[in-house]
Amino acid sequence: MGKAERELKFDTLLVHGGVAPGPGGATKAPIVQASAFAQDSAEGLEDIFRGRAVGPIYTRIGNPTLDALERRLAVIEGGIAAIVTASGMAAITTAVMAVVRSGDEIVSSSSLFGGTFSLFRDTLGNFGVTTRFVDPTDLEAVEGAMSERTRLVFVETIGNPKMDVPDIAELSAIAKRHGVPLMVDATVSTPYLARMRDLGADIVIHSTSKFINGTANAIGGAIIDCGSFNWQSEKFPHFEPFYKKFRGFAFTSRTRKLIHKDLGACAAPMNSFLLGEGLETLALRMERHCSNAQRLAEFLQSYEKVAWVNYPGLSDSPYHETAQKQFGGKFGGLLTFGVADRQSAFTVINGLKLAKNLANIGDTKTLVIHPASTICAEYEPEVKGLMGVTEELIRVSVGIEAIEDILDDFGAALGAL
Ligand SMILES: *Cc1c(COP(=O)(O)O)cnc(C)c1O
Repeated sequence: MGKAERELKFDTLLVHGGVAPGPGGATKAPIVQASAFAQDSAEGLEDIFRGRAVGPIYTRIGNPTLDALERRLAVIEGGIAAIVTASGMAAITTAVMAVVRSGDEIVSSSSLFGGTFSLFRDTLGNFGVTTRFVDPTDLEAVEGAMSERTRLVFVETIGNPKMDVPDIAELSAIAKRHGVPLMVDATVSTPYLARMRDLGADIVIHSTSKFINGTANAIGGAIIDCGSFNWQSEKFPHFEPFYKKFRGFAFTSRTRKLIHKDLGACAAPMNSFLLGEGLETLALRMERHCSNAQRLAEFLQSYEKVAWVNYPGLSDSPYHETAQKQFGGKFGGLLTFGVADRQSAFTVINGLKLAKNLANIGDTKTLVIHPASTICAEYEPEVKGLMGVTEELIRVSVGIEAIEDILDDFGAALGAL
């Protein structure tokens, strides 16, 4: 017998953790491209519906290919369970709606992915859920935003695109003092930079479409239950029946059996297979994403036409110290930089040959975008300010190409200014 799974190193867990052998000794979980699953008897199907037996029913609720990815993600993140969803936004919507009800408040980072910001402010705002947006690196502001009605603290582990790095352990302490869970979107940091459970997060969200997939061939999301929050609380009476029946699994069971089933944003079997393939090479790719991003950040910083560079790996980043402490010398594959103005930013983007101009991050390819005119174009100037989106800003998701080619590409494009 080999080592117990919990003793395996992270890079090994990515390849082997939670992986069960497939039929005939297949080294891959099969793609079960089926919508529904038959039982031999009426009694058998009743047992599954009533929870007396375990088995797949219908792919919106569960499917063996989805289960296989969920098991792996839970092991990798050190959680007790995971739910995979159709997209990262589906994961956030499902997980947040499982926690909050009309009249409740969310205390959220103001530095958010655009979709999450409009989900909180507009979509959930229309259903009577109020979000108080704060700078998550200002702990007094976070504390000051907490109220009797707060039911959730939500932050991104590295803000996209602000590149701010909140102190998760400190935020966890605030959330604990107020008896509410801390939910983190760890899409940009990935479990490679840090396991958020170890820092005190209660629920971890991923857009698996990004670094986990790694090759930009499938959209997906995941909700990981760290099993650390006690849902038996006066603040969460809606969890009571689930707590009674499922104890430590109250969050996962309420989310899966009620909210996820009803919202219906289920993952596709084929996408779940592809996302699992990406997971195996996450550490190798992240190592290169991180080293290439560090080199590109330093190169841009030394370039006179570049006004500023924002990357937590740079020692002059206001977030460097927290990132260093939390991520142990790894800083991720995302950076932003500013040139003179919007026109200069467009000139640089138009001059890049290797880097692709598109709305995505976490691909093997280097990607750029001008957020102010694209993914954040719909937001008012104040909101763009909160998100750290300015007209001269270019976001770069640094790929895994040879660094010399990346530097040459940016050098040539900046040379046109
Ligand atoms: C992309 C992204 C999302 C949304 O994920 P989708 O898979 O595109 O729905 C959420 N959070 C962050 C930080 C992201 O980068």
